[in-house]
Amino acid sequence: MESCTRHPAESCCERGFADEVDAHEVRREAILSMLERERHALSASLLGLAVLSVGVVAIPMRGILGWFLAARMASFLFTRWSATRLEAKLESRQPLKRAELLLFISMTVAGATLALLLWPAPLGAPLAAVATIRVIVLLVVTLIAVTLAAFPGPRDGLLASFWIVASGVVLAHPVDYDPVFVLVWAVFAGGVRVYAANTGIHIVCAARTLVENRKLAEELAEALAHAEFLSWRDPLTGLLNRRRLFEERQARADDAPRHLLTVDLDRFKLINDRFGHAVGDHVLIATADAIRDVLAQRSKIGNHQAYRLGGEEFLIMIEGADSKAAQDVAEELRTAIAGVGPCLENGQLLPVTASIGLAEWRADEGLDDALLRSDIACYEAKGRGRNRVHHAA
Ligand code: GH3
Ligand code: MG
Ligand code: MG
Repeated sequence: MESCTRHPAESCCERGFADEVDAHEVRREAILSMLERERHALSASLLGLAVLSVGVVAIPMRGILGWFLAARMASFLFTRWSATRLEAKLESRQPLKRAELLLFISMTVAGATLALLLWPAPLGAPLAAVATIRVIVLLVVTLIAVTLAAFPGPRDGLLASFWIVASGVVLAHPVDYDPVFVLVWAVFAGGVRVYAANTGIHIVCAARTLVENRKLAEELAEALAHAEFLSWRDPLTGLLNRRRLFEERQARADDAPRHLLTVDLDRFKLINDRFGHAVGDHVLIATADAIRDVLAQRSKIGNHQAYRLGGEEFLIMIEGADSKAAQDVAEELRTAIAGVGPCLENGQLLPVTASIGLAEWRADEGLDDALLRSDIACYEAKGRGRNRVHHAA
């Protein structure tokens, strides 16, 4: 992805990101960052308002200027209220149209009330007070326009209403103002607009990068979760794999009785050799399904888990069941597996059987030791004729 900073004057939207990133989310982020800056600029705004008040109060016989100051204060409160409303709508993800319109109106009113403070002061007004008022008005207009940089409607509404009303003030007072001030205010408003619009491009760009990074982070987390899932599962049967068994089960968490069942299909190689690998796979999947079914029916007596250790070998962990109950589960599994063979062309079921070794996982031994004993018990079951359960000593 190209870096935004290499093209400061160029909109990211023009560079083909629009399709990849949710434009609505980008706008939401840009408005959120605007509202955050507005909150941070609150103390500066209050200071500006205080200095304006001091300037106006310092003018004796201030007349209409006092009313304009009151209008400015009311407009300030209106702006705060509309910004808070917009923030609430954003946070609750409600439609923004009305709140945006309200902010536009409040900004237009703000531009007008600020321009009215350029009203000529009565004769004899202290020069310092008049100069202070004018400097603060220009500073506040700039501050608000830059804060609204990425929000063209309210930003341009503020600058346009400021310019129109300020020009009206100039034209209404030909004695106090040279008409050239109409041009001066136009240059001022235009300059601030250009600067704020450029800042706005950078803010939108930053918002776009943020949204894009968030999306990438979500996709990455999803891919990692999927990879983790795959790394724990046997892809053919969906059972947990050997890796998961050793990751999860190395240490015993409690003293609840546990039993291991090593389940090995009998003469499975012959099935592959006679009927093909696909039929062999089918038998493995059907065996896993049968194991899942039996364990689901037995879930009331404890927590059980099934793993495919590799090839045609499975391990079942029975938790919370005594030896008798574990033996019953093993017998049930043996019977269930005996019915998983597919129907052959001659209408007969392919005979599938399993030998099962059962061992108690004692509290004082590790998984490897218990597994070795259940493996040995399984070999014993094979040695005694297969298709049986053998309980380890
Ligand atoms: P025993 O009764 O002594 O266990 O004999 P067996 O034939 O079941 O055991 P053996 O270890 O000789 O053969 C296991 C076979 O399992 C060999 C291998 O080709 C087959 N196998 C291993 N993994 C898969 C698999 O994913 N799919 C299929 N179809 N066959 C597999
Ligand atoms: Mg086998
Ligand atoms: Mg085997």
